[in-house]
Amino acid sequence: MSRKLIGPFTQILTMDHLPLKGPLQDEALQIISEGGIVVENGTIRKVGAFADLQKEADNAVLEEITEPLVCLPGFIDCHTHICYAGSRAGDYAMRVAGKSYLEIAKAGGGILESVRKTRAASQKELERRMSARCERLLSEGVTTCEVKSGYALNVEDELKMLRAIHVVNKKQAIDLVPTCLAAHMPPKDFVGSPSEYLQMIASQLLPQILSEGLAKRVDIFIEDSAFATEEARPYLMQAQEMGFALTLHVDQFTPGGSFLAVELAAASADHLEASTNREVQALANSDVIAVVLPGASLGLGYPFAPARKLLDHGAALAISTDWNPGSAPMGDLLMQAAVLGAAEKLTTAETLSGVTFRAAAALELTDRGVLTKGKIADFIGFPCEDYREILYQQGKLKPDLIWKAGETA
Ligand SMILES: [Zn+2]
Repeated sequence: MSRKLIGPFTQILTMDHLPLKGPLQDEALQIISEGGIVVENGTIRKVGAFADLQKEADNAVLEEITEPLVCLPGFIDCHTHICYAGSRAGDYAMRVAGKSYLEIAKAGGGILESVRKTRAASQKELERRMSARCERLLSEGVTTCEVKSGYALNVEDELKMLRAIHVVNKKQAIDLVPTCLAAHMPPKDFVGSPSEYLQMIASQLLPQILSEGLAKRVDIFIEDSAFATEEARPYLMQAQEMGFALTLHVDQFTPGGSFLAVELAAASADHLEASTNREVQALANSDVIAVVLPGASLGLGYPFAPARKLLDHGAALAISTDWNPGSAPMGDLLMQAAVLGAAEKLTTAETLSGVTFRAAAALELTDRGVLTKGKIADFIGFPCEDYREILYQQGKLKPDLIWKAGETA
């Protein structure tokens, strides 16, 4: 049994005692000045005043902090596509020359370009590329990251992607949460309708994923260029019956998909750039976490999702990068959350909640996202004396120290 006391931190933001849904004022943040954290076997045992913990925990090994550090829960990026090969710099050039996302997709670029390159890559190559991205994420304070398949769109290579995610999750310190997105879009080479493709995935891919233990979540892209609500519903219901949790790409360019996420009690509805008041209200009245993806707006030059409106209506708002080779190649969660917060007038408490415990809820993880007894000891220290410095510097202030399960990473 290894017990250690880490501190003193100038401030600890526990993100504890905050509601899952709705607006938040900074005054509601629990801030422990000159705080410490007692960690035992990778789990938080106690968070409190450093001086008190020092007296109590006399058999603990002291891991002393000698610089001003503001401590937060490790960030959670709850929506990414970081398992891919190749670059889409060509798409970018077309886009800034005036072609729309849908025009590029219809011309055979877009997602299908990544599909060609990811199918051609070996599992080892995918692992290597993903590992480098995981190392960068962890260095920027992301201790848990969701990763989707969806750049293969056939049984064999979707399995290759999920196996690569599985291997990298074992090797890297960061925790990865895998999701099957074989329903990213109908593949060009499948003979049959979109519904028949989804039936094939449900009967041939999902059972294999279960038997290998590769993912517990299923995602789909509901959009004009991908799948219609009526095509998605039977597939998602079948996945749910098999025991998969659901998450949906909805309302990115055209509204309406959110209603299916609510109807099926999905864990999260992601994108929402095109959500109208009707979708916002439906999400707010449900337990579905609203995940907004500022990186996709920045990448495409589109307006942000209505984050302020979602919160004001009472929704649970999480913020994620959507890191992917096409629309969101940046993958910097803190920078994107800070920029979204400035544009949408989110309080510091709302923005930080969106990348910690509310993002954990989007992944249905109850063991992280707050710093309190019993949670995984994932936390990060920023070199400043006031927590407001972090978003104020718009992502340029990075954490100096990162602890994953109590160990410095
Ligand atoms: Zn996405």
